[in-house]
Amino acid sequence: MDQLILKKTCGSCKEPFSATTEFFHRNKSQKYGLHSHCKRCRSLTMAKLQVGNPKYLQWWRSSREKLRMDALTAYGGTPPKCACCGEHRLEFLAIDHSNGDGAAHRRAIGSAPIRKYLWLKKHNYPPGFRVLCHNCNCARGFYGYCPHERESILQINTESEQRPATSAA
Ligand SMILES: [Zn+2]
Ligand SMILES: [Zn+2]
Ligand SMILES: [Zn+2]
Repeated sequence: MDQLILKKTCGSCKEPFSATTEFFHRNKSQKYGLHSHCKRCRSLTMAKLQVGNPKYLQWWRSSREKLRMDALTAYGGTPPKCACCGEHRLEFLAIDHSNGDGAAHRRAIGSAPIRKYLWLKKHNYPPGFRVLCHNCNCARGFYGYCPHERESILQINTESEQRPATSAA
């Protein structure tokens, strides 16, 4: 006699399941403390919501943008700009590891940019990061330096070379 196990009918597919967390997600406000729809139906609705619902997409975009903006202003000032070239168009900007261990960090927290922004927020925007535009970021990634840096070094060199020449003339 094992009718002590309560049955709960899913409000969506109408199938009776054991009223346990094996078949239902927890929900304190509902009967038996379980969700009214079974796990399978829940995951189906969630998937539909996420793929097809423009409101969900909008919410996701705006909360992601806010998270991104918070990180950019925390490291790049208000309004945020590239630490190398001063690029200020938000679409070009990203958070960079200033000590160059970005790959290890990405491995630890996952590769999606959103994970980085979440991580930074959770850790109260710790030091060791800066804002770079994608140009400066990619150049550093590929060549280990940014052409902007070389240009500014060249400029200083030519300036110091010119000075004695002009004073001699
Ligand atoms: Zn169901
Ligand atoms: Zn830049
Ligand atoms: Zn640069």
